[in-house]
Amino acid sequence: MIELPQNKLFVGGEWEEGTGAEITSIFPADGSVNRVLRGASVADGERAIERASRAQADPAWRNLKPHERARFLYAIADGIEANAQRIAHIQSRDTGKTLRETGALAASAAGTFRYFGAALETADETLTVQRGDALTMSVHEPLGLVGAITPWNSPIASDAQKVAPALAAGNAVLLKPASWSPLVSLELARIIEAAGLPKGLFSVLPGAGREIGNLLVEHPDIAKISFTGGTETGRALALKAARKLMPVSLELGGKSPTIVFADADMEQALAGVLFGIFSSTGQSCIAGARLFVERPIYAQFVDRLVAATRRLKVGHPFEADTQVAPLVHFDHRDAVAEHVRKARAEGADVLTGGAAPEGGAYEKGAYYLPTIFAGVDNAARICREEVFGPVLVVLPFDDEADVIAQATDNDYGLACGIWTRDFPKSWRVGRAIRAGTVWVNTYKQFSISTPFGGEKESGLGREKGREGIRAYMAQKSFYMDLSGAPHPWAAAAVRAS
Ligand code: NAD
Repeated sequence: MIELPQNKLFVGGEWEEGTGAEITSIFPADGSVNRVLRGASVADGERAIERASRAQADPAWRNLKPHERARFLYAIADGIEANAQRIAHIQSRDTGKTLRETGALAASAAGTFRYFGAALETADETLTVQRGDALTMSVHEPLGLVGAITPWNSPIASDAQKVAPALAAGNAVLLKPASWSPLVSLELARIIEAAGLPKGLFSVLPGAGREIGNLLVEHPDIAKISFTGGTETGRALALKAARKLMPVSLELGGKSPTIVFADADMEQALAGVLFGIFSSTGQSCIAGARLFVERPIYAQFVDRLVAATRRLKVGHPFEADTQVAPLVHFDHRDAVAEHVRKARAEGADVLTGGAAPEGGAYEKGAYYLPTIFAGVDNAARICREEVFGPVLVVLPFDDEADVIAQATDNDYGLACGIWTRDFPKSWRVGRAIRAGTVWVNTYKQFSISTPFGGEKESGLGREKGREGIRAYMAQKSFYMDLSGAPHPWAAAAVRAS
């Protein structure tokens, strides 16, 4: 039996009991309680910030050479790998995700630390082209203290995506995970501590967004917020950040279109569409939640999609063949059910699902059946609002121009999937749709080397990629005189003095 992290927070390098509001982490497969812990209060957060400021300003950290700092990132990656099973188990308990998925997320988090260690060691500074009698260059320095605020859906991966580049850049990081999933971030703190990172540089402060999240955003010593979460929270946070003129990066919500052309490989497209919406039980910012199918194949494609959806295994996260595990929390299941109720009320036809599964173990957990709607147009709420659950809406389209118009007519701009054998067509459509990521004949593939982020209401800025570290650094330009002579503007006056 794998032991869950204790009910203590990691406050500037010290394990301390929180003094904020109580947080209850549950296992949504059966409603049992994982841990009850006190979250971080404003006073806890202020202590963490004070310790982080001291640790970050210490030349022992600030002046480390990149290859020396990279060693910490490699050690953290090793620690995550050595504890991958533990991390997967803790995250599955906290979020209800399958062990298969949380195992992959742990491996990806280790890869993220390793990648940013390597990127740090190999990031050159630039000697800029000389335009005068000075050597000109551009160098990068740490911002100072970074607040990282993450959601509950893939905590170890979203934590790593922020913590690794921010530490690589030489900052201190204060991480606030979501209240439904505090445990895996605390486990990350244990691993980072064991990797020998100097005390104070990293904190994990679970707690209420309005309290500890807000403190991070408003505190004058926090130099940047990197946020992943809902669009409304991100917008409110950005408005506060504007008052301090603080940079923010925002990874927000989505309602991503998936487009199947009549010439697509039907089985490849069917499998990709199913994975795109129903893996992670739809709790994915990039979920392919709006499906557009070209009219000549619409009826056949939708029939097969519905039949295949009914064959997906809805089950316990610890069973190896489970494809659709419970939702993260009973409250979230209620929110998904409410979206379904509204879609029905606006006239959408339920092709499959539309309810929680009944009987046996399903009765105890926050399960919901994979659901497919049709019979509405793109203006319907179910086509516009993010459900963040296993709910797909299907619409027909006539031609390229029609699908570009429909797919783009949405507030979000996170991702897009295109299924066709015609690559020039995929290029034209992919370039025309405003989205941060386009997948062609695949979906939800990720690589840490490839930048990720959203357009429109889906966010601001990019994570990942070699430039990912620079997002946590201040750029400084240097001019070093080569002439060795007094400036001509005042030279005569100086000579006569
Ligand atoms: P959320 O916005 O409710 O919460 C995200 C985080 O912000 C949590 O840690 C929360 O406690 C904190 N928070 C809440 N109010 C705050 C405040 N006033 N000040 C500071 N922090 C505050 O989102 P969620 O329900 O945890 O996650 C689901 C959302 O996240 C979905 O909209 C999903 O699309 C989005 N998401 C986006 C990406 C991406 O990369 N684009 C990835 C995963 C999830």
